[in-house]
Amino acid sequence: MTSSPKGSTPPSKPRILFVEDEPTLRIHVSELLSDEYCVDTAGDGTEALTAVLRAKPDIIVTDIVMPGMDGVELVKTLRSAPSTQSIPVLLISGHAPEDRRVESFREGADGYLAKPYSERELRAVIGSMIHSARQRAEAMRREAAEEAERRVHADRAGLLESITDAFFALDGAWRFTYVNQRALDYYGKTREQLLGHSIWDLFPAAVGTQLQEQYEQVVRTQSSAAFEMKSVLTGRWVDLRVFPAGQGLAVYFRDVSDRRRAEEKLQAVLTKLEGREWRLSLSTRVAGLAVFAWDSRSDRITFENVPPRDILTLSQAVPLTGSHFLRQMMQPDDRRVLRRLLLRSTRSGEPLRGVFRIRGQAESWRYLEINGSCESAHQPGTIRLVGVVKDVTERRQAEEALRETDRRKDEFLALLSHELRNPLAPIANGLSLLKARGCADPVAQRALGVMERQLNHLVRLVDDLLDVGRMTHGKLQLRVQRVSLAEVLGRAVESTRTALEANGHTLTTEVRDEGLMVDGDADRLTQVVTNLIHNSAKYTDAGGRIHITIRQEGDEAVVAVTDNGIGIPPHALEQVFEMFSQVKLQQPRAGGGLGIGLALVRMIVLMHGGTIRATSAGLGLGSTFTVRLPLARADASIPATAALDLPASGDVALETPCCGARIMVVDDNSDAATSLEELLRLKGYSVLTAATGEEAIEKAQTFRPQLIFMDIGLPGIDGVEAATRIRAIPELQGTTIVAVTGWGQPSDRARTRAAGIAAHLLKPVTPEELERVLANLSSAEGMTG
Ligand code: ADP
Repeated sequence: MTSSPKGSTPPSKPRILFVEDEPTLRIHVSELLSDEYCVDTAGDGTEALTAVLRAKPDIIVTDIVMPGMDGVELVKTLRSAPSTQSIPVLLISGHAPEDRRVESFREGADGYLAKPYSERELRAVIGSMIHSARQRAEAMRREAAEEAERRVHADRAGLLESITDAFFALDGAWRFTYVNQRALDYYGKTREQLLGHSIWDLFPAAVGTQLQEQYEQVVRTQSSAAFEMKSVLTGRWVDLRVFPAGQGLAVYFRDVSDRRRAEEKLQAVLTKLEGREWRLSLSTRVAGLAVFAWDSRSDRITFENVPPRDILTLSQAVPLTGSHFLRQMMQPDDRRVLRRLLLRSTRSGEPLRGVFRIRGQAESWRYLEINGSCESAHQPGTIRLVGVVKDVTERRQAEEALRETDRRKDEFLALLSHELRNPLAPIANGLSLLKARGCADPVAQRALGVMERQLNHLVRLVDDLLDVGRMTHGKLQLRVQRVSLAEVLGRAVESTRTALEANGHTLTTEVRDEGLMVDGDADRLTQVVTNLIHNSAKYTDAGGRIHITIRQEGDEAVVAVTDNGIGIPPHALEQVFEMFSQVKLQQPRAGGGLGIGLALVRMIVLMHGGTIRATSAGLGLGSTFTVRLPLARADASIPATAALDLPASGDVALETPCCGARIMVVDDNSDAATSLEELLRLKGYSVLTAATGEEAIEKAQTFRPQLIFMDIGLPGIDGVEAATRIRAIPELQGTTIVAVTGWGQPSDRARTRAAGIAAHLLKPVTPEELERVLANLSSAEGMTG
């Protein structure tokens, strides 16, 4: 059968297959029907089957009795195959037995026409049979189509119900025509509440919103839209896809609030992270820090934050690898240190810190400060160093400049004190002279006393200033010997006597345990006690009482200086030991200092392994300063106090008996030389002066002095050189040389000691020191006058 679309071409004639063994009849009938039908013919059943295969007929008209396959057989065969079973078959017979005819109907024949039949009869039967067959076929097709459509409908509904999106359809009047379960759940309504009702009537809140605009646009433009919006009904975020469907719309939507929330959260976290990263990056850049990681396996150095070449001032040509930095750029000593630190940090996990030099431009070094931490990386045997690196070259240079300035300041302080001491020496000598000459005028005597006290004060200030410089540079050195505390106390009391007397203070001492010895620097310990007594004198109103005790407590020697002075408020008890600290509440005192005395005192005590504490019942109630020092160990082999270096004070007579011994005074400052000369002459010595080293050597050979007071800073050869040469002269082997100088640094002392100079006295020499030297001279020489 031809299948042409209906209406496009005229309907083709129905096709008849006419099966008849009698040729004449076959031709006659086929010609007869050919006006109305397209007629194929066959001589028996077998030929008929072949013809059916060639072109499927709308009807088969067949004789029953035929040679070969007869009509009944043909029917049977046709009905057995699905493609031919519905072809209507009209049987024609003249003399077929009744059984055969009945059988043919059983096998599926559709009609029977007995011979002889008229043409009209034949046409009528054929027409009717074709018509009924067509109707049947049409009914079946319709049924099948309906069934298919039913199935599609069911499938679609199932599909719409099963999709995860909510779905609804609206007709041209905005009425719900379909709503799936998800949409019902979303709206919280039943199907009946929605179907047939206008969306705008049901949800008036949506009228005039973006939703309505979008729906109308889809209908108007007949093109789909997809958008996200916050539902005015539920306040939740929905993702909608809207399609035109007929006059209306099909809408798929889903609730994306959770996703939106997650996205917003993520965005917030990202923004925060970005902000953090940005801040970190900015702050490290501003701080000039490069954040780096180095991996021993790849050897690569990676930087996290900033262009490292800017931060580290590296040229583009420098490869960023660990081996290049270590071998080509790092200073060899620093390289060894870094390797050691790397190993240590890897083993112990402690941070790696240090400043390392790398080659900069123009043969200069740049200083890189690395602060990192080693991780044993993912792979055993590999090291990972993570940290920050900073170019600290400028800081280093600034520190260097600062150190240089500091050094110059020290030099200046040393020079200053030297220069200050020089004029102090002749003044001190002059004072001693005036005192020694005696003067009955009480006014002059008072003036002398004032001058002496002020001079002592000036000397102490100069000494303290020098010590501050040494202390801050850790250069304060102790000359440790076994020292008797009672002697230290004696010397301190002696040197403060005038200050105490001037203020009318009464000093009492109490040595509770005799023979207490400590291993320490006698001068420095004397300085401690002297300082404490001076403070007590200074911070106690005239006529005060100062009491000093020495005692043993356990394995410590305790020296306590107590006064009944202005006292110290509790909050200041610790603070008084700070450098440059003075208690503000206290009245300014006459002869106030620089606020450095107690800082020095504490430093000296600490250097002796001791402690110092201030106690006071409060303002106006006096103070006690308690020094604790470890007692000397019995077994220790520290030499006892050297005779001349640390002359015992005790009760040295101020007026050493004159013995007429020869003393030479060498000083280029003629005031200093002559004032000392006169002072010594007054004491009965035979004195000769010299202004230069050369002159001293020359004069010494004939004068043969037993004692030489030698200034060190001299024009030409200096005092140390002069002393060395004098000591080399055989006749002058027994001469004692004492340096009298403004230079008091440890290095100066070491130089004089090395030259065999017996003592190093600082200008101005106090009368006590002078007496001690002279006393030692007489005992050493065994002179008796
Ligand atoms: P200064 O040169 O000011 O005396 P010190 O370091 O010796 O410096 O003392 C620091 C401060 O401690 C003093 O300014 C004073 O306020 C307080 N002070 C020290 N000794 C005494 C004392 N015996 N009685 C009261 N106050 C004292």
